[in-house]
Amino acid sequence: MNPLFANLPTTVFEVMSSLARETGAINLGQGFPDDPGPEDVRRAAADAVVNGYNQYPSMMGIPELRTAIATHYQHWQGVDLDANTEVMVTSGATEALAGAILGIVEPGDEVVLFEPMYDAYLPLVRLAGGVPKFVTLQPPHFRLTEEALAKAFSPKTKAVVFNNPLNPTATTFSDEDLNLLADFCRRFDAIAISDEVWEHVVFDGRPHRPILALDGLRERSVKIGSAGKIFSLTGWKVGFVCAAPHIMKVLAKSHQFLTFTTAPNLQHAVAYGLAKDDAYFEDMRKNFARSRDRFTDGLRTLGFDVIPSQGTYFVNIDIAPLGETDDVAFCRRLVMEHGVAAIPVSAFYAEGAVKNVVRFCFAKKDSTLDAGLERLADAI
Ligand code: PMP
Ligand code: GLN
Repeated sequence: MNPLFANLPTTVFEVMSSLARETGAINLGQGFPDDPGPEDVRRAAADAVVNGYNQYPSMMGIPELRTAIATHYQHWQGVDLDANTEVMVTSGATEALAGAILGIVEPGDEVVLFEPMYDAYLPLVRLAGGVPKFVTLQPPHFRLTEEALAKAFSPKTKAVVFNNPLNPTATTFSDEDLNLLADFCRRFDAIAISDEVWEHVVFDGRPHRPILALDGLRERSVKIGSAGKIFSLTGWKVGFVCAAPHIMKVLAKSHQFLTFTTAPNLQHAVAYGLAKDDAYFEDMRKNFARSRDRFTDGLRTLGFDVIPSQGTYFVNIDIAPLGETDDVAFCRRLVMEHGVAAIPVSAFYAEGAVKNVVRFCFAKKDSTLDAGLERLADAI
C-alpha cells in the first residue's frame, strides 16, 4: 500500500458529517447549503439528461461551457480568456487542483502553502513529490507579510497554492496582499495555482480579484473555479481551470488520466447557469450575507467571540476567551453533548496549528441556524 494514502486520516469533513448523521446533530460543519439550489439550473440538467447529453463529452469540456466560462469571467472579472486554448472543464475544483499540482510539481520542487489551508493541498503536493514550505497566517486577520513570504520562497520554489477567499478563515486578501504575492511569484519564477472557488461568495461589496489579472501573472497562473459553489450545488463537482496555453497543455495531459471528462448533462446546465443575469449572483450574495448576519448576531448574543466573515459559507469563532485550548475536543463535545457539528480549524494546519478557532457553515435555512444557536446556548 502507498503509505501516502494508507497513513492519511479521513478528512475532517467526512468525520464531522458522519458524526452528525450518527448523533442526529445539526450539521454546521461541512460546507453545503441546505436548500435545493436554483430550480432553473437543476431543470437545465434534467432536460440535458432527457435530451440525450449522456455520452462522453470532449475531453476539454463541451464548447458551450468553455465559452460560457470565458464570457462569464470577462464580464465579472475583466479577464480575457481564449475558450479554445485557455479553459478546461474538470470534475470539481478538486480534480483541477490534483491535475495542476501533479502536472506542475516535480519531485524535489518546493511548493509554498498558506496555513490554514484547504485539506486537499498538502496530500497532493506530497503525492507529486513536492516539498511543502508553509506560510502560517495568524488570526484574526490572516494577512500575508513580506517577512513570512521571504522565508518560504527560494530558488527551488516551483509553485504556490493560494486560496482567495480563504477557506476556512472566511477572509479575503487585500490588494496589497495580492500584489505582494505576485511580486514573489515573479521574482522566484513561480506558478500561482489559485483556488478561487469562493470567488462569487463575497460580501459587503467586495470585488473578487483573480490572480491571473495581476501584473505579470497571466503567464504563470492557474485559476481554479467550481460550479458547486457558484450555484450552491456542491455535489455536482463541475470545476473550471483557466491558464495560459503553455500551462494548459500540461494540465490537459494530467486531466486525461485523472477523470478525462465530466458529466455532459451537468456541463450543459452550468453553461446555462453562468449566463444568468447579474441579479442572480447579487441575490445569492445578499442571501448568504443575510444568513451570515443572522448567525453572527446570534453567536455574539450568546457571548461567542466571532471572527468576521468576508466571504465563503463560513464564520469562525475564537474559543480562547472561553478558556478552551483544544478545538478538536471542543468540537467533539459540541456534537456529542450539544447536537451541533462544527469544524476544528486546526485540521487545516500542518505545522504550528492554531487550536482556538472553530468554523461554522451558515449556508442554511433560518430555522436550521436558529435551532443550531439554541443548542449552542447550552455550550457556553
Ligand atoms: N477548494 C476549496 C477552497 C474548497 O472550499 C472546496 C470545496 N468546498 C474545494 C476546493 C473543492 O471544490 P469541488 O467540490 O468543486 O471539488
Ligand atoms: N469544501 C467544503 C468545506 O470546506 C467541503 C468539502 C469536502 O467535503 N471535502 O466544508
